[in-house]
Amino acid sequence: MPEGLILGMDVGGTNLRLGVFRGGDCVATLRVEAHLRERCLHAENSAAAESAILDILADAIVQTRQQHPEIQGVGIAFPGFIQGDGTLLQSPNLPGLHHLALGTALRERCGLPVLVENDANAAAFGEFVHERSRQPGLEHLLYVGLGTGVGGGLILHGQPWRGAHGAAMEVGHLIVVPGGRRCGCGNQGCLEQYASATGVKLSYTERTGHAPALPVVARLAREGNADAQAAFALAGNTLGQALAHLLKVLDVSVLRLGGGMSAAWDCFAPALQKRLEADLIPVLRGSVDLQRGNDDDQAGMRGAALLAAARQGGS
Ligand SMILES: [Zn+2]
Repeated sequence: MPEGLILGMDVGGTNLRLGVFRGGDCVATLRVEAHLRERCLHAENSAAAESAILDILADAIVQTRQQHPEIQGVGIAFPGFIQGDGTLLQSPNLPGLHHLALGTALRERCGLPVLVENDANAAAFGEFVHERSRQPGLEHLLYVGLGTGVGGGLILHGQPWRGAHGAAMEVGHLIVVPGGRRCGCGNQGCLEQYASATGVKLSYTERTGHAPALPVVARLAREGNADAQAAFALAGNTLGQALAHLLKVLDVSVLRLGGGMSAAWDCFAPALQKRLEADLIPVLRGSVDLQRGNDDDQAGMRGAALLAAARQGGS
C-alpha cells in the first residue's frame, strides 16, 4: 500500500502556500493570495477575524482535497504561539486572534486530522528530517529563519520545543543593541531590527537615504558598495552575538539558517562566523556545524507535513 498524501500549508500574512507531500517529496504546490493580515486588521472584532481565518484555511484544505482525494492529513505552519493540540494563543502578525482552537476547528470542518505548529518550529523540523537522513543519530537542531522578521525553532530529541507558552525560541527579540532601534514587541535593540531583511534595508537606508529592495542591497554589497557591506556586516555581527548566547545555553552542534534573507548568505556569513567564534566559550569554538538551510522555500510546509505524518504514524 503506497504511503498516503499529506497536505502541508505555510500561512503568511499575505499568501497561503500549500504543498502536497508523499513522505518528504512534494508532488504539487499551490499559492493562494489570501491577505490574512489585512482581513485581521479590518475585522470588526476578534470573532470576525477568527471566523475569516478559519474560513480561508478550511476552504484551501477542501479545495486542495478535491484535486487530491488521497490526502489523509494536514500539517499547518502558522505564525504564532501554539500550544497543546493546535491552539493558537496569539499571533504577532495576525492581530485579533486569541486562544483560537485552530486544530480542533479545522479537524471538525474538514474531517481530516490537522496538526498546527509554529512556523519556525515547522521549518526547523523540516531541516531536522533532512539532516537526520545524512546523520542518522541526530537528535537536536537549532534553526533560525531570517525573513521580514527573525524566528527560531529548536528540535530537541527529535521534537519541536514549544516552551510553556508556545513562545520558546523567540530569537528575533533577543536584545543585541541596548537602547537601539525600537521593535514591534515594545523593547529596543532586538535582533530582528538588525538581522532581518527589514533590518538590513533599514541599516542601508540610514546610511544612504535610499530604500531599495533586499536583493538590490545584496547586489551592491557584492559589487563592493561600502554602505551595503556595512549593513550586512551589522546583520552578521548581531546574529553572531545572539547565536553565541543561544549556543552557550543549549550546546546544540547543528545550526541551520533559512528564510528569504539566507539567499544573501555570502554577504553576512563572514561577519557572523567571526563574531560567533569570538563570543563562544573555548570548548565550543570550532565545534558548531553552521550552514545555510537545505530548502528555504518549502521548509515550513514540508516540516508541517512531516510532523503531521509522524503524528499519524505514531512516531
Ligand atoms: Zn523585539
